[in-house]
Formats: sequence, structure tokens, C-alpha cells
Amino acid sequence: MKCLVVLGGGESGVGTAILAKQKGYNVFVSDKGKIAEEYKKVLLKNDISFEEEQHTEEEIFKADLVMKSPGIPDKVALVQQLLEKKVPVISEIEFAAQFTNAKLVGITGSNGKTTTTLLTHHILKDAGHNVGIAGNIGDSFAAQVASQNYDEYVLELSSFQLDGIVDFKPHIAIITNITPDHLDRYDYKFENYIASKFRITMNQTSNDYLIYDSDDVVIQGWLKENTIKAKLVPFSLEKELETGAFLQKDKIVLRLNSEEYIMSVSKLNVQGKHNTKNAMASMLASKLLQVRNQTLAESLSSFEGAEHRLEKVQKVNGVQYINDSKATNVNATFYALECMDVPTVWIVGGVDKGNDYSDLMPLVREKVKAIVCLGLDNQKIIETFQNVIDVIVETAGADEAVKVAHKIATKGDAVLLSPACASFDLFDNYEDRGNKFKAAVKNI
Ligand code: ADP
Repeated sequence: MKCLVVLGGGESGVGTAILAKQKGYNVFVSDKGKIAEEYKKVLLKNDISFEEEQHTEEEIFKADLVMKSPGIPDKVALVQQLLEKKVPVISEIEFAAQFTNAKLVGITGSNGKTTTTLLTHHILKDAGHNVGIAGNIGDSFAAQVASQNYDEYVLELSSFQLDGIVDFKPHIAIITNITPDHLDRYDYKFENYIASKFRITMNQTSNDYLIYDSDDVVIQGWLKENTIKAKLVPFSLEKELETGAFLQKDKIVLRLNSEEYIMSVSKLNVQGKHNTKNAMASMLASKLLQVRNQTLAESLSSFEGAEHRLEKVQKVNGVQYINDSKATNVNATFYALECMDVPTVWIVGGVDKGNDYSDLMPLVREKVKAIVCLGLDNQKIIETFQNVIDVIVETAGADEAVKVAHKIATKGDAVLLSPACASFDLFDNYEDRGNKFKAAVKNI
């Protein structure tokens, strides 16, 4: 019996353990931290052995194969030792994909993955497809492969998931955009992170498709230097394309296999240029999966967008509060600020992943009337913007930030939480930050 060791007892780890057990592996789950009660119950119920708050090396080194959860960096000693012993260390996506014949749509990029994944799934479901959604969203891919029988999956894929693939091959790959993020996991080399994103296409053949943002200079640069086997399907807000999706005034044009489909941008229920791009990517994927034009139009107008992404919370005294807590890097915040068409009190800050705020400067000058810092260390934000913005206030919690913003904002303004930073200094995660912000707004 082959032995699979799962490192990390979270959603992807427990899902992999279930699938592996079903497929006849001898499975052992090991987590250096505590395993959540709900997951422990699942492991016990499925008779899967596990340990928590330790890694017992003699058990782990028995592995023929290791599935490493995406949160564990390659650099940790245990992983390095496994690799030295020539034990394959793969991701959940790699493990699970070999047990399904479903068509896979894999979506990666620095920003827009979740939105594009949700939207693509929404369209395919509306079109009556038997389609699942997984990856960084909801139930793990592996658990669904073990228990469902979908014909298609839409998968949100982080670069960490892609680092652990060997044979994984999506029929349709989407790269939404590439901007610097998570560089701490890539030796602070942007090129390593770019290469990681492009792994999504490495096993594709000429029967597969790569949909990508052709306005993105980083993506363009890579495509010039590297050969891609998949058919290229670009989208652009800036130029007309022979194949792909582009803008003609206020209309989106899809051009595929010498057919054209045209839809007004105003049909989209989500705002902002970035969401037009996400919609183009989803529309192209859906057309490649034979969704009819009528369904496409209806489905796009009923898509509500995702929580914590430019989510309109409510209006208080004529001030619109917007929760964009998921903006954990500068590029996401760039698009949020770009969408603002009224004077904005901007709540920003948290754990800075090496941010360069200079790209934001013109937008901040034009749109921001005050800055409310929401982080433990706000020095860089203050130093960057103090010559441009008169009112900068430091706060250390969502309640306090909302109170301060409420005092500064006047009728017709907006208060935007778009932190450009991770949340771990003051919050459990970005959802916790967004939820606390929304609760504070409701309490004003
Ligand atoms: P991801 O899953 O890649 O983090 P999300 O869809 O969750 O992407 O969006 C994350 C943040 O990025 C949100 O603040 C959102 O408004 C912004 N965003 C969404 N799509 C894009 C895009 N195509 N380009 C830049 N920013 C985007």
C-alpha cells in the first residue's frame, strides 16, 4: 500500500486525506499547529491517523508521496529534507486532478482570481452545466473529487498551489494579471513569482487555451520570451484584437472562431475597469465551453460580485461606506481608488509586503480627502502621503477607524476600506477585517 503523508490539516489537507484514503492509500496527516475541531472530527470519522502540534519525522519519512498545504513554504527544513530524500512533494490540485476526468478551468493571477472564479462558475451554472467550484474557494477540490461527479470544475489557483504541480493540466487557463505579491516566498525575486504563475500552462497542449490580460506588460514580456503550446486568447481594454475580448466604446466585443458577440458594459452588475477585465476573462472561458449568448448576457447582469471586494456596505448620512478588505496589495487598491468618483476617506494599512505606494500617488491626490491608517506600524504610509494629504489619522481597530472616518466624511463623500496590506497585525484575516468594518459601520 502506498503511503501518503499530508502536511497541514486544513481544508486542502483533510480533503486530500479523504480522497487518498478512498483511493487505497495509507494516509497520515501531520500539522505543526492545532487542527481545527471540525477537521479532526472528519479525520476520526474517516479513520485517518493524524498528529497535531508536531511533525514526527520517522512517520513522515515513511512517505512515498507528500501533499503539502499551500501555506507551508518550500524552505522549511522538513520539506527540504523530503526533497533531498527524493520524495515527491505535491499540492492538493496535483493529487486530486489525477482522479477526475472533468474539464478543468484553472484561474490564477495576482488579483481578480476569486471574482473571476465565482463569475465563471456562476455563468456555467446558469447555462445548466454540471460544474463545481474549488481551489482557494469553499470545499477543497480533493474532497469534491472524492464525493461529487462534476463534468467541469472552475479552480482558483494560487501560485503556491501551482508550485506543487507536476502533471496538472487545465483545459482552460486564465491569468488575470501579474503584479508583485508574496515575494517573501519567492526569494524576493519577481521573476520567480512570474514563473510560478505561468506553471498553469506548462502541461497544456495545442487543444487547450490560455486566456490572459494582454495589456499586462509582465504577461506580455513573458509571452515574448517563452513558447506556449496552448491557443492564446487575450483580452484588452486598450486595443482591438483579432481573437479574444476587447472594448469598442462602451461595448465588450468577443471574437472567437470568426464569430463575434457584442454586449454593452452597462449590462455588467459589477463596477470598475478591473471587473470589466474579469468579466472578459469569464466570458471567453464560457464561450469556449459553448455557453449561449443569451445565457451569457443574463448571467453577467445577475452576478452580485464577491464579499469584501468593493462591497457597498451602506450609506450613513449620505456617506457611502465600501468594504474592499480583500485589497491586500497596492494593485488591488489602485483599482479601488480608480473607481471612486466622490471625495474619499481612505482607510489603509496593515502588514506591508514590501509595498511601493508611488503608483497610487496621482489617484490619492485626485480622490482622497483624508487618510485613516489602520495598522500597527503606519510609518511608511504617513511618510509617503504627508505632503499630499493634510488629514492623516492613526487608528488601531475597525471601530476606531470607522468612528474617525465618520467624523471626517461629509454628505456625498465615500469611506473606502482598501488597505493595500495584509491584515494579520490586528485581525485574524481579511474576512475578519471586513466583517469588523461592516459591523462598525452598522453601529454608527
Ligand atoms: P484574488 O482572489 O486574486 O485575491 P479577488 O477577486 O479576491 O482576487 O480581488 C482581490 C482584490 O483585488 C479586491 O480588492 C478587488 O477589488 C481587486 N481586483 C479584482 N479584480 C482585479 C483585477 N482584475 N485587477 C486588479 N485588481 C482586482
